[in-house]
Amino acid sequence: GPRVDIGAVGKKYGTGDRAVEAIGSIDLQLRPGTTTALVGPSGCGKSTLLRIVAGLDHPTSGTVTIDGETPDAYRKRGDIAVAFQDPALLPWRSIESNLALALRLTGRPANPARIAHLLDLVGLGGFERSRPAQLSGGMRQRAAIARCLVTEPRLLLLDEPFGAVDELTRRRLNLELPTIWQSQPTTTLLVTHSITEAVLLSDEIVVLSPRPAGIIARVEVDIEKP
Ligand code: ADP
Ligand code: ADP
Repeated sequence: GPRVDIGAVGKKYGTGDRAVEAIGSIDLQLRPGTTTALVGPSGCGKSTLLRIVAGLDHPTSGTVTIDGETPDAYRKRGDIAVAFQDPALLPWRSIESNLALALRLTGRPANPARIAHLLDLVGLGGFERSRPAQLSGGMRQRAAIARCLVTEPRLLLLDEPFGAVDELTRRRLNLELPTIWQSQPTTTLLVTHSITEAVLLSDEIVVLSPRPAGIIARVEVDIEKP
């Protein structure tokens, strides 16, 4: 995975009296192939930072570079996968077809075996041909996680992707995701509310202050991953 440099990134929404300062100034490096968990109070600016790293939003000040490139350039090559709380699957396509499309749109070859393997991993074996509307919210979120992984993105951005996932599956994902990440050296930024999840999944935990977001602590996670 790439090295990500977040340099003095600040973000204000709106102007004048109505301006909301979402991010004060954040300096953060994501080391190649590591997972960084972002934790902090609701509304502090976590999603905003993630969208800026994805190139889906632009900072008011500062810059983000991904192996020296702009996030836009990097995303347009299909090397970034983003999972938001809202799974945003295409409703008229089957689950496997949603994954197949992700491969096609990012210029990857078709890979039915990998699609089947990942759907199995997230507990959707047997639902390959279902449409999103036929699945529960948690199942749709799991499908979106599988879609993120199928393209083997170099940079993975996850915004509370397990919110609606049931406890048991969440636990299995927490145990198995590190194995996947080890097999494909992805650089990952994970927004989560769960400290347990942050510890299980990340190499470093970054704690943000209430809005405007600033870094108040960085903790190296030094435990044997399961
Ligand atoms: P978090 O992900 O930590 O919950 P967000 O990044 O979603 O926080 O939001 C940070 C702050 O910026 C919040 O006060 C939110 O209301 C505000 N905000 C987020 N997106 C917008 C937007 N598009 N326009 C105006 N304000 C926004
Ligand atoms: P289209 O070419 O019509 O845009 P797709 O190629 O995404 O659509 O898929 C069409 C159908 O083919 C899907 O609904 C699915 O049943 C099947 N299919 C597509 N990709 C795969 C795959 N990787 N493995 C198994 N079946 C697939």
